[in-house]
Amino acid sequence: MKALRKIGKGPGNVKVVEVPAPEPQADQVRLNVAYAGICGTDLHIYHGKFDKVRPPVTLGHELSGIVESVGPGVTNWQPGERVTVESEAHVCGRCAHCRNGQTNLCNERLALGYGVDGGFAEAIVVRQSALHRLPEEVSLEEGALCEPLSVAVHAVNERSRLQDGDWALVTGPGPIGLLVMQVARAAGGHVIVTGTSHDADRLQRAEKLGASAAVQVDKENLRERVAHLTGGKGVVAAFECSGVTAAMNDCLDCVQSGGEIIQVGLYGSRVPVSVDQFAMREITLKGAFVHTHETWKKAITLMAGNAVNLKEMISGRYSMAHWKEAFRLSESAQGIKYLLYPRELE
Ligand SMILES: [Zn+2]
Ligand SMILES: [Zn+2]
Repeated sequence: MKALRKIGKGPGNVKVVEVPAPEPQADQVRLNVAYAGICGTDLHIYHGKFDKVRPPVTLGHELSGIVESVGPGVTNWQPGERVTVESEAHVCGRCAHCRNGQTNLCNERLALGYGVDGGFAEAIVVRQSALHRLPEEVSLEEGALCEPLSVAVHAVNERSRLQDGDWALVTGPGPIGLLVMQVARAAGGHVIVTGTSHDADRLQRAEKLGASAAVQVDKENLRERVAHLTGGKGVVAAFECSGVTAAMNDCLDCVQSGGEIIQVGLYGSRVPVSVDQFAMREITLKGAFVHTHETWKKAITLMAGNAVNLKEMISGRYSMAHWKEAFRLSESAQGIKYLLYPRELE
């Protein structure tokens, strides 16, 4: 079968190669991949900027598919079922975090697409406990967005204290930022999304998807705008989804005293931040990293209830042969999420 793989360390070294189709072992299921979303991590791996990658490995960790066959001991899943799959491929199962259900914090955690072969392939073998059935009303395209949606659900519903009627700030209108905005909306929040004039297209989409305001920080005074919208109070929670230092400082400027900042984006370096504000205004900084099994169940419920609009998030679908174009578009600020389909669809 064909797979899009990282074949060596360093920049580049990504290509479509022929590999043997994997066979499901005990408690495993083989899927025919329907769609797999391109994520920032895939782009970092492509450019040689993601240390944890273990080449040779098939990229892609956001996918939907159809059960093709099952290994020994699998009775819960039948060929033909439409599914999405948790990106978490391996954890130790013994540490305190694993026993608590916080497998996202396990030191041994390995995910699809860098530690274990991922979804940019015609087929993939996964543990049966990682599978989730797609509700009838959810398409396979939308199903491929369950992973980034789960990231947003974890940040909003499991890490922040955001409640119905609260104001929130989301910095960075990329796929994660727009999903965080939508999940915060679904929780009853009023959301202000920020970007730069470079993100004009994405900010417009943010408003279409339910943001109360979308602000270009290089053109408008964000602090004044937030003060105006929130009656001078500032936001209760700020979700930093850009991985840009200026955005972290925007969060500090806009969050109210006693409020919280949820760090979702990654910086890949040390950043200068006005730390005194955490002390003097008792602001809480919390991290949010990926998701757990429970998070996925909540994400599926949101999808089934039409509480989030995933269709509007999908900007294009490309066959795996055209992965370079799809990667290029994913890096541009045009559109939001691009999907690859590894096999020709009927
Ligand atoms: Zn991702
Ligand atoms: Zn563990």
